[in-house]
Amino acid sequence: MSRFFTERHAALVPYTPGEQPQDMQYVKLNTNESPFPPSPGVAAAAAREAANCRLYSDPESRAVSEAFAASLGLRREQVLAVNGSDEALNFAFMAFGRELAFPDISYGFYPVFAELNHIPYTEIPLREDLSLAPEDYYGLHKMIVLANPNAPTGIALSRDEVAAIAAANPDEVVLIDEAYVDFGAESAVGLVERCDNLLIVQTFSKFRSLAGARLGFAIGNAALIRDLNTIKYSTNPYNVNRMTAAAGIAALEEDAYYRANALTIQENRRFTTRALRKLGFELPESSANFVFARRPGLPGGTLYRELKKRGVLVRHFAKPRIADYVRVTIGTREQMEIFLRETEAVIKEVIA
Ligand code: PMP
Repeated sequence: MSRFFTERHAALVPYTPGEQPQDMQYVKLNTNESPFPPSPGVAAAAAREAANCRLYSDPESRAVSEAFAASLGLRREQVLAVNGSDEALNFAFMAFGRELAFPDISYGFYPVFAELNHIPYTEIPLREDLSLAPEDYYGLHKMIVLANPNAPTGIALSRDEVAAIAAANPDEVVLIDEAYVDFGAESAVGLVERCDNLLIVQTFSKFRSLAGARLGFAIGNAALIRDLNTIKYSTNPYNVNRMTAAAGIAALEEDAYYRANALTIQENRRFTTRALRKLGFELPESSANFVFARRPGLPGGTLYRELKKRGVLVRHFAKPRIADYVRVTIGTREQMEIFLRETEAVIKEVIA
């Protein structure tokens, strides 16, 4: 820390993103990216728009917002385009966060954004089996933040459970982070017309293979979106660049490609889940593009390190309750076969 760093941020512990190592080619299953490239029209659309970069991007992101809203059957006033969904989370915490509640095991950025914005927060323990009890979130008098499906567990709430939480907190914003919703969970987007306190966040980083383009959306009542715009225009009016907006529109036009990929990922998830159980792992049923698994006798940190030596990257969280686990992104069938083969080799070596 330099001597200039302000006291107000002195205690801030920043979020640690998953590693993006450059030293060798890994089978990279650690940051929940898509194993599939963007759809065919994306690169050409982004390249065409690059020619217009002399001019600022549209601060209202009209074209991509209209296309995205239409894909959900909503109006443009009900969505806000952002530079990756992390930005929407930060804007929402700034706009609506007086006090916050989220699960003790969830996306690691929630406590960081809370600390950054000096918002007190309560972490509500998940059940022993890592599932979430909706009743724990009824009538809390705090803004609620839930990832659905949850990360890193992959366990999803139903749309009815989300509706019940929103109805039980009419005077608070209920933020549902749907980063992984397209891999088999139920979206709450259909509820925004009748729940004026429901704010949904989605990303193009996973299902639409655009993690490096940085595009996400907040979705909700037009009044909530106006408030987020107040924060956006006080932070970074041109938050979505021209190439990314063009890439996003092209991706929305090629929806069938991404839906087919998501089906492949779900099939590979079933295959991986079955194979891991045969190898003695315990894992909850995942609705996301990753699984969260532990094997008695094999610490999560050991498995992570041994797999890395063998060229396979997974994610380990050295946190209470989940240090035994690794989170494994679901990739192609070939990638999952390599992961399973190397995991079996690690088990033989470590347990023998
Ligand atoms: N929410 C959750 C639960 C995530 O896992 C991620 C990805 N790290 C994000 C939001 C942010 O994704 P992005 O900023 O790439 O849209």
